[in-house]
Amino acid sequence: MGSPKPMFDKFREECGVFGIFGHPEASKLAYLGLYALQHRGQESAGIAASDGVQIRVSKEMGHVNDVFNDEVIAKLPGRMAIGHVRYSTAGESRLANAQPLLVDSVHGQFALCHNGNLVNGGDVRDALVRAGAIFQSTSDTEVVVHLFARSQAESAESAVIEAISQVRGAFSFVAMTKDRLIGARDPHGFRPLAIGKLGDAYVICSETCAMDLIGATYVRDVEPGEVVVVTAHELKSIKPFAPAKASQCIFEHVYFSRPDSYVFGESVNEIRTEFGRRLARESGVPADVIVPIPDSGVCAAIGFSEASGIPMRMGLIRNHYIGRTFIQPQQSIRHFAVKVKLNPVKSILEGRRVVLVDDSIVRGTTSRKIVRMVRSAGAKEVHMRISCPPTISPCFYGVDTPRKSELIAATHTLEEIRKYLDADSVAYLSLDGLTGAVPEGRTRYCTSCYTGVYPVAFPRDEAAYLQLALKLNGDASGPSQPVGLTELETDPVAS
Ligand code: SF4
Repeated sequence: MGSPKPMFDKFREECGVFGIFGHPEASKLAYLGLYALQHRGQESAGIAASDGVQIRVSKEMGHVNDVFNDEVIAKLPGRMAIGHVRYSTAGESRLANAQPLLVDSVHGQFALCHNGNLVNGGDVRDALVRAGAIFQSTSDTEVVVHLFARSQAESAESAVIEAISQVRGAFSFVAMTKDRLIGARDPHGFRPLAIGKLGDAYVICSETCAMDLIGATYVRDVEPGEVVVVTAHELKSIKPFAPAKASQCIFEHVYFSRPDSYVFGESVNEIRTEFGRRLARESGVPADVIVPIPDSGVCAAIGFSEASGIPMRMGLIRNHYIGRTFIQPQQSIRHFAVKVKLNPVKSILEGRRVVLVDDSIVRGTTSRKIVRMVRSAGAKEVHMRISCPPTISPCFYGVDTPRKSELIAATHTLEEIRKYLDADSVAYLSLDGLTGAVPEGRTRYCTSCYTGVYPVAFPRDEAAYLQLALKLNGDASGPSQPVGLTELETDPVAS
């Protein structure tokens, strides 16, 4: 099965994680939790469950609904379970890389799920291989499993802490031994991880929307640098790392997380709407109608409409039922590639000055098609407004991004982007506007994809190992070369 392409030209979140302790239907609730987290990864899904004696795992390529059914869940008994949905960044997409990873070791069975990307994963892996370790996957998560298995610590819990203390970068882990659930977040807190309760059961997961579906209540986040260990008797908090500068991923608020989630303790919906209000105040334009690009632009468009006083209408309708492939007509249909996903509503657009609002632009290819489609539907003017700053640099912390030379804002001026999109005007939210919308935004958030300044350095050879350096330079040999508009035009559309 090939990996599904994203709906639009967007960054892609790598993974979602879910864990539950102390519930008789643990694996079924993990399945539901993963179902709610499906937007965080669509290539593979897996669940490991423990009945107190044995951990069993089931994982496959595909969506949660395709991978699990009653029969599969019935083979995962026990009161504790962890689960994972994955889209790959480091490591290619194949079943060996699907999670949870489960191993037998001197400390007993251990299962691990990871959201994030380790910046020293390659170095640690090379050292382990030289020492005789045999790896089964290309995923950087497997190095943690090896470090756990080789630990001389006296308890499994101490072995976990020793293992994760040796890796750097972005990680939100849920893990388990046969009798305890462990959640851990890297000292910078790049990726989210929240704790909830369902009766006496504990839940640890990427986003609170997974708690909502199973009726659990959000309690608090796992703090950056915190390890929580849940047993039958208690939830224990351990702080094994030296404090570090908080660097929570602000793109979680811009695009990745579901708007019905609380992420980093904040309502994604409220933050995203505030991005829109600020965008309107910074770069309002005389217009007749605000139109969101669904679904990602809706919250910001509501905020933009509120602050500008211009009504918002759904001038583009999204088709939610697009399969992996569709039969294309032999005769060309104008705007077909984008029209199959979005249809313009002529009665809203015709003769109007339209402000299109979206959360982000990556390559610009899809945005250009949408602008042209809106013009074809009769819009008098089309103004593009983006509710985050220009995306100029790739992510190394667990998000799939194209190489820098493909990011339109990294290689073009605002006026060049406007021309390329065929818009009457283009404006982005400023960095101050973005960070001002979240509490302690300047000090608690990572904004590297907007600034090119990275809070956790990655060794050059490490980046090459992960093939992520290619994303900085276009090729491994030379500096970034700006690409021209013509090249961008011929880029394959991230469809
Ligand atoms: S670089 Fe961007 S996408 Fe990556 S963690 Fe930082 S803010 Fe998030």
